[in-house]
Amino acid sequence: MMEPIKRIKGTDDILPPESATWQYVADTIRRVMSLYNYREIITPIFEYTELFARSIGASTDIVSKEMYTFLDMGERSLTLRPEGTASVVRAYVEHSLSVKFPIAKLYYIGPMFRQEKPQKGRKRQFNQFGIEILGTDSPYADVEGIILNLRVLKELGITDTHLMINSIGDPNCRQGYRRALKEYLQPRLEKLCSDCQLRYHNNPLRVFDCKKQSCQAQLEDAPVMSDYLCDDCRKHFDKVLHILDKLDIEFSINERLVRGLDYYTKTVYEITSTALGSQNSLSGGGRYDILVEELGGKPTPAFGFAAGIERIIMAMEQSEGYETPKPQLDYFIALTNDEILTTAMEFAERLRDKGNSVNIDFRGKSLKSQMKQADKLGAKRVVIIGDDEFSKGVYLLRDMETGEQTEIPLSIIPNTDK
Ligand SMILES: [Zn+2]
Ligand SMILES: [Zn+2]
Repeated sequence: MMEPIKRIKGTDDILPPESATWQYVADTIRRVMSLYNYREIITPIFEYTELFARSIGASTDIVSKEMYTFLDMGERSLTLRPEGTASVVRAYVEHSLSVKFPIAKLYYIGPMFRQEKPQKGRKRQFNQFGIEILGTDSPYADVEGIILNLRVLKELGITDTHLMINSIGDPNCRQGYRRALKEYLQPRLEKLCSDCQLRYHNNPLRVFDCKKQSCQAQLEDAPVMSDYLCDDCRKHFDKVLHILDKLDIEFSINERLVRGLDYYTKTVYEITSTALGSQNSLSGGGRYDILVEELGGKPTPAFGFAAGIERIIMAMEQSEGYETPKPQLDYFIALTNDEILTTAMEFAERLRDKGNSVNIDFRGKSLKSQMKQADKLGAKRVVIIGDDEFSKGVYLLRDMETGEQTEIPLSIIPNTDK
């Protein structure tokens, strides 16, 4: 016997019936996106490596240690996308989308890849959805993104969410803050982990992202960005908070929230859920007013978020009243003889013409075992064509809920509610 081949570590097969949950999540996302008039963009799952180095930041954890990067046969360095924004912005610039859409409201949904230590809720191939709104610096755009994000979660039944928000300023005012933070961290450098010592040099703000308790302890009296915001950034942040207030959206300001990507400016936010325990972040995003320019486009302010679908499904399963979607089948056709299969398939096609889902078991098992199978598949009705029925030109229609059975000529398709 050959050794069976296993899936790659950190990847998942999503099998039925769980795949129905995934379908439901994707359908809900698409439905909510259309409520806000966001339109889907589908980009390749691999890109030139440089795209991610330039956008996410060469010194970030993602780019420096988590990407699946390889050379193709032409010796070009390619990378499986670790996130969605870079590709969307690349496409926005490449196709001059600003001409057609003065404000482009886009969303994506699909797999991303990061070489992390696999654990619950953290996979090497994982799925994200997200939005990008390009072409406006309005604080209302920030808020629309956040309420859209909250609505998706709410419509998926996740209600114990918490919104944390912060402003990390722009390149102007962040300089001053960086300096102050470095001054504060300098005498504590010895006590930081080796990752944070690197962060101190490359992007000291990211020390806040460190998961290590010992590093967090060093940050207790660290200066906060809000003391350094310039007028423009302060005004923008105050406006965002004001609109959230007006719209009755609950939030808390978290001055240590910085997000692990280099491209954010001004607003950053994160939505957590207690359903997830320690890994409680469900989604997050923020404004990125300089990224389009950094990727070769015209200066274009933008805002976006991304959310992990694996985490969302974990939170859904923890939520009260959650049920795995039940399998749905309108008709199961049971027959007693292979000779009847052609007739059965013809019959099934006529049912499908009317929009019914139909299953035929080809294994030639006993009627009893076919009825069991019908039950397992969640069939609402069973069409039974036994030898007797076949010779009389009829079938038995069995309602699986009531057990009622009616004899009907094969020329007549059952009345359905479709
Ligand atoms: Zn650290
Ligand atoms: Zn500023």
